[in-house]
Amino acid sequence: MDRYAYQGKIKRRHAGVNLQAAAAQYKKMLFILDHIAAYVAYVDAKSLRYEFVNHEFARLYRATREEIIGRRMCEVLPAKNYQNALPYIEAVQEGKIVAYEAYFEIPVGKKWISVEYIPETDAEGQVTAFVVLGTDISKRKIMEEKLEMAVRDLEMISAKDELTGLPNRRYFNMTLHSEYQRLSASKAVLSVIMMDIDYFKGFNDLYGHLLGDMCLRSVAKALADSLCQDIALAARYGGEEFVCILPEADLYTAGLIAERMRLAVENLHICHEASTVSSYVTISLGIASLQCTDGADILKVVDDADAALYMAKKKGRNRVEVF
Ligand code: GH3
Ligand code: MG
Ligand code: MG
Repeated sequence: MDRYAYQGKIKRRHAGVNLQAAAAQYKKMLFILDHIAAYVAYVDAKSLRYEFVNHEFARLYRATREEIIGRRMCEVLPAKNYQNALPYIEAVQEGKIVAYEAYFEIPVGKKWISVEYIPETDAEGQVTAFVVLGTDISKRKIMEEKLEMAVRDLEMISAKDELTGLPNRRYFNMTLHSEYQRLSASKAVLSVIMMDIDYFKGFNDLYGHLLGDMCLRSVAKALADSLCQDIALAARYGGEEFVCILPEADLYTAGLIAERMRLAVENLHICHEASTVSSYVTISLGIASLQCTDGADILKVVDDADAALYMAKKKGRNRVEVF
């Protein structure tokens, strides 16, 4: 064997050794990638074809690795998820690392997956491919949803009066502040109506507490029904007292609404033999208004409406008085 032939043989043997080492290394990498709890894929940035996917990824689609490799993202992902992914694909093609959370309805079931795209660039800085890294976050999402529902339920409970189902005083106060803030921008007017059932102590004494409760429920419903509840709010202020917020209503409009409420209660025709003002349950009402400007005293409008209510009581009950 001459010298050159010998050197060629050595080179080939070394190449064989390198190839073997590379194959062993590849096997190791594959083993690792197939045994991590993540969905891994490698996608050609131009054609958007999968060049590699791990077992976990293929399992999502009840497919083998070979069945996915070579296919385009739009052929593998559900149409909705592909559409949703497009802006992120565009971003990774521009060289950005992107992450998002998405809901997948795939052959293996319904899953929330956190997805990350990591770009790979060549020597010129061109994005040639990107890695897709997905993790199952379904458990966390379910917990989050449950927590959100619990918080919503708790908010509902803490805002509602148990007996009548109307918003409670706490919610009324919150709404008064938020409505004042909202209306301040246009310096609009807000009116408040305070209401109180007439001779209710006598009603309880005569008919009992249980019928008293039923009466409170009926009155609450009549008050709420006489309002456009998308705009106005009726709440139980406490005991046999109710309150109403009328955004963008001046005293005149509030007066009309208050009269409608007074009539609605009287027309329930709930017998009240302990009342000296009517044979039925009635309410007295006081109205006050407030122009929502910076520095206005919001709580004063409630005091004013209460003062007007006191006047209505003094003047004989079952009537509306304006502050
Ligand atoms: P006025 O016409 O001056 O308002 O007289 P009134 O008897 O209605 O007023 P007073 O404040 O003397 O009595 C209010 C009564 O409301 C006393 C209380 O027993 C009754 N009340 C308050 N909350 C409830 C409730 O949740 N259920 C029942 N059944 N009664 C209640
Ligand atoms: Mg009272
Ligand atoms: Mg009363």
